[in-house]
Amino acid sequence: MSEERILCYSEDIDLAGDLLRLARAAPGATGAKIHAVVLPGAPADAGDRLARAGAEAIHVVAGAANADPHVVAEMLRSLIAAVKPTVLLLASTKRGREVAGRLAGGLDLPAITGVTGLRFAANGIEVDRETLSGNAVSVERIPTRPAIVGVLPGTTGPAVAAASAERHDHALPAAPTPFCERTEVRAKPGGALEIEKSDRVVTIGRGLKKKEDLGIIEALAKAARADVGCTRPLAAEAGWLTDDHWIGLTGHRVHPKLYVAVGVSGAVQHLVGMRSSKIVVAVNSDPNAPIFAQADYGIVGDLYQIVPALTKALGG
Ligand SMILES: Cc1cc2nc3c(=O)[nH]c(=O)nc-3n(C[C@H](O)[C@H](O)[C@H](O)COP(=O)(O)OP(=O)(O)OC[C@H]3O[C@@H](n4cnc5c(N)ncnc54)[C@H](O)[C@@H]3O)c2cc1C
Repeated sequence: MSEERILCYSEDIDLAGDLLRLARAAPGATGAKIHAVVLPGAPADAGDRLARAGAEAIHVVAGAANADPHVVAEMLRSLIAAVKPTVLLLASTKRGREVAGRLAGGLDLPAITGVTGLRFAANGIEVDRETLSGNAVSVERIPTRPAIVGVLPGTTGPAVAAASAERHDHALPAAPTPFCERTEVRAKPGGALEIEKSDRVVTIGRGLKKKEDLGIIEALAKAARADVGCTRPLAAEAGWLTDDHWIGLTGHRVHPKLYVAVGVSGAVQHLVGMRSSKIVVAVNSDPNAPIFAQADYGIVGDLYQIVPALTKALGG
């Protein structure tokens, strides 16, 4: 296993840190050397953050920043030739999946994305992936290495002691020509909420009767220093909140320390997005609502009475 070299890359340095921690903790990876990548355009402190997340070698590529997946894939391809990783771990983001596909096709390597668990074995790599709307886990095996594995954001391992990382600088022979140019970045209505990074979330569901009542949820969130999340019907059907609040299988996946679900039934497609929250509080008028099975604390009652009382108790 000492020959194992795991190369981790994400354009999001927090997610790259999650990959490093996952690689370090993966069963069967003992003795593997964990490498990280810094591509042009990364934040100035990227190297320090990756070292703190456990990278033993950091590969810094010089050149012009470009988000085009083709350019990113070409840069990683050069690094793969230099580092010869046995596994390339990417975050299974939209761009990560595009990059994985390009590299797999270009290098004729096996690739698997949407992974939530990772284990190394003598005869390949075993991964977990969600299936049946997140209701079951499919265990899949890639029998050979090298391989490319795309890990679902939020999947990580325990914190590690900061390593002293070696730094390797790489200059590419020629800058890859982008296939696609970004012509504009337009702010989304509703701002730049990144709910998947929130430490505390207050989520509202269809228990809310009308849009004008959102004020009581926002007041609770403010008092709890939380961000507001919602179920799919409130974003996709009612349009009361923008998509960046939407939590679940087809929305965002959150991992907060505190998750307060208000008027949320607890459908499996919602649970997939919040199930790794540390403490879950549910407020629902139906004592049989499935959300209570996920909750550490449950309050059975009318949200229109409970929510203002909670807000007041928190000093709001
Ligand atoms: C392919 C697919 C993907 C999906 N993806 C997602 C997803 O990503 N995210 C998601 O959230 N859903 C998703 N859904 C929808 C999902 O199946 C549920 O329909 C949805 O989560 C239900 O939202 P809800 O809990 O807000 O509403 P409901 O299920 O209608 O629940 C409302 C709850 O509010 C309670 N309530 C009512 N009045 C009050 C009150 N006054 N006080 C307190 N409680 C009250 C009720 O008891 C009930 O439990 C998906 C569905 C499909 C088919």
